[in-house]
Amino acid sequence: MMKQDKLVILGGGESGVGAAILGAKKGFEVFVSDFGEIKDEYKSILELRNLKYEEKQHTEELILDASLVVKSPGISDKALIIVRLKEKNIQIISEIEFAGRFTNAKTICITGSNGKTTTTMLTYEILKRAGLNVGVAGNVGKSFALQVADDNFDYFVIELSSFQLDGMYDFRADIAVLLNITPDHLDRYEYKMQNYVDSKMRIVRNQKPDDWFVYCADDPIILEELKKTDIRSRKIPFTIMQALNDGGWIENKVMKLNVNNNTFDMTIYELALQGQHNLYNSMAAGISGSILNLRKEGIRECLSDFQGVEHRLERFLRVHNIEFINDSKATNINSVWYALESMSTPVVWIVGGVDKGNDYSILFDLVKEKVKAIVCLGKDNNKIITAFSGIVKKIVDTKSMEEAVRTAYFLSKKNDTVLLSPACASFDLFKNYEERGRKFKESVRNL
Ligand code: ADP
Repeated sequence: MMKQDKLVILGGGESGVGAAILGAKKGFEVFVSDFGEIKDEYKSILELRNLKYEEKQHTEELILDASLVVKSPGISDKALIIVRLKEKNIQIISEIEFAGRFTNAKTICITGSNGKTTTTMLTYEILKRAGLNVGVAGNVGKSFALQVADDNFDYFVIELSSFQLDGMYDFRADIAVLLNITPDHLDRYEYKMQNYVDSKMRIVRNQKPDDWFVYCADDPIILEELKKTDIRSRKIPFTIMQALNDGGWIENKVMKLNVNNNTFDMTIYELALQGQHNLYNSMAAGISGSILNLRKEGIRECLSDFQGVEHRLERFLRVHNIEFINDSKATNINSVWYALESMSTPVVWIVGGVDKGNDYSILFDLVKEKVKAIVCLGKDNNKIITAFSGIVKKIVDTKSMEEAVRTAYFLSKKNDTVLLSPACASFDLFKNYEERGRKFKESVRNL
């Protein structure tokens, strides 16, 4: 009997368990290792499928025996086990790269510093409503690998983070969408912006002349990268700053698309997702639909009735005519910029958490114009307090969501908006941004 290839999977979460199932199906000998605890639901799946695993440890001798390693995007390159694997020249790839080797489905891959999930869900909705046999993967729902193992989709819309892109080598996107590049996760990129930019640009890797690259032409970093990158695919720009002949643009409040002489227009008032940032997201999704030659009426319907995604500028509730907006997913400065930009009433801003290297000065003008009070919510709020103390008169330090929401409510009056848009990661006080958003809504309900 031929010796089986050994697949080691580091990280027993959604993507790791998916990769384990797919690996077993493809004949690998599989071993899952997680340095933390594996959730019960995933443990029972692994047990049910007879897949070997360990938790709360990495047994080096088993891991270093791998022929191939699939690494969860959450594990840093600096982790000891990764350093050891690299010393031994064992290939380490991401779950997306791994699953991509076992499917011929067409892929629409979406990356950017902000707007990935929104654009991914919107694009998925457009393809699904057009009747295509399509799956959605990335940060949302089931892992790509699991769907490649269990389903038989013709298309996948995939959200790709920079960490996933880092572990991709041979993968090729039929349609690659790049929404924007602004500083984020710099702690994982040696605080060098170019490292992070390089990671995002991997989205066009391996693309061929028949493929498509859809990008935001208003983003100075992307434009700079385009000058130095050899992109073989067909380039489709979108912009809100000028009229174009091809691509996507806004003209007299009308969103216009022209892809391969296939034109589409609708007024921006009809778009379900409002705010400047969502013009970009809607254009990107509409362009992907046009590339696939989907019916215009279907695209229009989706763009005008899409419900949005929880925790992204989610207009949650009005209490005594104060609007409460949950933007818990805003974990960096740029997304907060767009959140504040779209506010039309005075804002009490709840901000804070784990700072990933934020430069708050980018927000100064908008904060001056729109924010009447700041409620800090985090274990250590000093950086925020120092940054804004000359700019906003009222800044309050809080340590729990209940306290933050009550304080914000107290500081606001009729027709104001309380905006949770933290600019930071959540794990000082919460499990993740979803928990932070849910706690926000719960606290608002309890007012
Ligand atoms: P991602 O998946 O890239 O984190 P999301 O769609 O989850 O993006 O949105 C994250 C945050 O960024 C939300 O606060 C949202 O309001 C904001 N946002 C959404 N789209 C954009 C965009 N195109 N540019 C800037 N900010 C955006």
